[in-house]
Amino acid sequence: MAKAKKQAQAPAFMGLLEEMTIDEVRAFKPRVAVLPLGSTEPHGPHLPYGTDTYQVTRLARLGVASANKQGAKAILYPTLPITNNANFRKFPFACRIGIRTLMTVIRDIATQCREDGVMKLVIVNGHGGNPGAIMASMREIAGMDGMPFVCLASRLNPAGFKTPIEFPSEHAGESETSRMMWIRPDLVRTKKLRNNPLGKIKVPGLERADFVRPWHLYLPVSAGGETRVSSAAKGQAVIEAEARGLAELLVGLGKTKFNARFPYR
Ligand SMILES: [Zn+2]
Repeated sequence: MAKAKKQAQAPAFMGLLEEMTIDEVRAFKPRVAVLPLGSTEPHGPHLPYGTDTYQVTRLARLGVASANKQGAKAILYPTLPITNNANFRKFPFACRIGIRTLMTVIRDIATQCREDGVMKLVIVNGHGGNPGAIMASMREIAGMDGMPFVCLASRLNPAGFKTPIEFPSEHAGESETSRMMWIRPDLVRTKKLRNNPLGKIKVPGLERADFVRPWHLYLPVSAGGETRVSSAAKGQAVIEAEARGLAELLVGLGKTKFNARFPYR
């Protein structure tokens, strides 16, 4: 009884904005904000549309909770569940907003951070269609006066981490399947695990150029690569490693005073 009563009176952890009250937010005095970007899009026959959103939300929550135990004072925004998916249009309900719309949303959230007195914003991205727009937004924000420092946390694995993933894939492969087996095993259709086909480019030399791949040609079933060796243990290992990396970054940002030379000495 006493435990249930205690849980009803506090968020899962301080910094989880959507569970905090206005009094708690005011008392918390955040020093860094975290914005997770998810996506809602097909992930093959075995994973749900919300895969990216579930994954990045779990990663961000673990990272922020750990960072705040170490004094980071990070505040976690709710995950944006609809982002860029221009190359996914041939699949039904690959939810998307425009490239410029996402850039505007990021700039507006950075502006809000400044208005709320937070001058450091970390974007945690869970969707492969977003980095171009995020990088462009960061450049746009860097060209404006008085805006917060914004960074994209994209290489989160701590030094020395050896990934247990045997078959890397860019979409709905062993890594994402393993992550979902840990986070939401009830949503993984394990009977549908297989080695999903990848489209092959026919233009010599194009492999070394950048272009936006039509996902229906590259990933005909909206998932690519071997998934049958996936496991919850692998998913837990990769997400917890990334959360440690995120926590390290947030503690560093939270404890470093913002000034005109930030982030340099
Ligand atoms: Zn995904």
